[in-house]
Amino acid sequence: MALVGIDLGTTNSLVSVFTADGPQLILNALGEALTPSAVGLSDKGDIIVGSAAKNRLVSHPDKTFARFKRYMGANREVKMGKKTYRAEDMSALILRSLKEDAERHLGEPVDRAIISVPAYFNDVQRKATYAAGKMAGLTVERLINEPTAAALAYGLNSKEDENTFLVIDLGGGTFDVSILEIFEGVMEVRSSAGDAFLGGEDFTDAIVGHFCEQLDKKPDELKPGVKGLLRDLADKAKIQLSSKHEASVKFIDRSAKKPEEKTLTISREKFETLSESLIKRMRRPIQRAIMDADLRADDIDRVVMVGGATRMPVIRAMITRLLKLFPEHSLDPDHVIALGAAVQCGLLDRHEALEDIVMTDVAPFTLGTEITVEPRPGVYETGHFQPIIERNTVIPVSRVATNSTIRKGQKGVDIVVYQGESPMVANNVKLGSFYVAVPHNPQGHESFDIRFTYDVSGILEVIVTTLSDNKSKTLVIEGNPGSIPKEEIVRRFKELEKLKIHPRDAAENTALISRFERAYENSLGDLRQQIGQGLAQFQAILDGQNDTDIKMAREQFSQFLTEIENMDVF
Ligand code: AMP
Repeated sequence: MALVGIDLGTTNSLVSVFTADGPQLILNALGEALTPSAVGLSDKGDIIVGSAAKNRLVSHPDKTFARFKRYMGANREVKMGKKTYRAEDMSALILRSLKEDAERHLGEPVDRAIISVPAYFNDVQRKATYAAGKMAGLTVERLINEPTAAALAYGLNSKEDENTFLVIDLGGGTFDVSILEIFEGVMEVRSSAGDAFLGGEDFTDAIVGHFCEQLDKKPDELKPGVKGLLRDLADKAKIQLSSKHEASVKFIDRSAKKPEEKTLTISREKFETLSESLIKRMRRPIQRAIMDADLRADDIDRVVMVGGATRMPVIRAMITRLLKLFPEHSLDPDHVIALGAAVQCGLLDRHEALEDIVMTDVAPFTLGTEITVEPRPGVYETGHFQPIIERNTVIPVSRVATNSTIRKGQKGVDIVVYQGESPMVANNVKLGSFYVAVPHNPQGHESFDIRFTYDVSGILEVIVTTLSDNKSKTLVIEGNPGSIPKEEIVRRFKELEKLKIHPRDAAENTALISRFERAYENSLGDLRQQIGQGLAQFQAILDGQNDTDIKMAREQFSQFLTEIENMDVF
């Protein structure tokens, strides 16, 4: 059964496969490698995924959702039609669409996948990603940390070298930094750090603020539709600023009696001033990753850039200044992770072209248990954290700690598992707990081993063995905030199966209609009328149900819309 790599991104998702020619991206039904991570409900009540949904974000903000990756595993639901959806349900819809694209391309069923996640995803978020895969009908063979995937994509080219890499990944919503070493064909992740709430979108928001000033409006008071439109325009301006010194976009103000067209502008200098605090926030994880790897900045040989937002010149300038190295970007920063996930597929399936590469990874957080300490004889303090697997330990790993009961005759112990870096458990994330009975020993204390085994997919197994009778108990983490029980996954999967999805061949038509609507929304006067007429014509042709006519019309109208869309950017 075919195995694919999937980059399930905040902004866009990609699917890839490992072939005899190396890693390869698979194009979606629209012929694009990037499928926007957006889902929505059409006017008829069908689920739409990808570009068709993304294009409706502005015109139908209440029925369309994007950027849900940061809520994976969180108890947060949105309502779409009559149903409610969690981030993992929406991700499952994206995954299902990618699975179908891959099946069409490969001509065989695809039921296994390797999915990338930010290095900083915690246990709950990783489990939610597994659940999303399952709901989409995929067995998730393993999760791969995004920077690891990036290094794999680049590492292929430098098998012979000894290198220390720094991977900078600035996507739409997350920032990850990792340090990796390649030595005699063995690749090791030495450390990783990051900020799960910093991404290209924060730079877009900075521009939205600037545009609001030009429009004399407050960002918090904008209606959702207007906010969406302004974000769209700000994103366009941000992308323009990656190749120009000045960006300008047109905004149609509908709040006035007569809609008015306004030109909003921003210079690169202004943008750089507005980005200063965001750029500053990027320095800390970089420094921490270098320190955690026991290195100095000048030990880094190569810097690799991943994620669409690393195209911003201000990011490259900061890296060059900080590390005195020019970052590399020979691969498209939007494709790197998916290509790396495909390499991992090749490794898993033991593809002969990859025989020489071995891959290791690290635990992104310290894992441990709560313990009670005795600072003075007879005085007990609870709530302390006992690390068992330290952050950045190479995984898979198995470590054991031996503890004893505190009181004589104690009947059992509560094992509470946490992840985090604070010495007090109250500041760390609780992963689960269980009670272990110990042999009754009225005269003394009982000792027990706590064994933590952490695998490459970020799944933790905890086994407690009482030493006097050699009995063991394994932790099954239950009641995790946001984790979904197995039966619930099966139920949700069935529900998702039932949802009516537009047939594949119609996806192109839906996408074109959304483009029409968006162009209509963004224009005025004669042009607007012309777009309206075009849309009516196209819908009439669709009603005719003649495939050849539809294809011809689609090509013509697509060209017509491309011309209009490009007019906007000057
Ligand atoms: P990703 O999640 O990796 O797809 O990254 C998407 C982010 O990259 C979004 O915030 C985009 O606005 C941003 N982005 C894409 N292309 C460019 C560009 N040429 N210049 C600046 N930012 C970009």
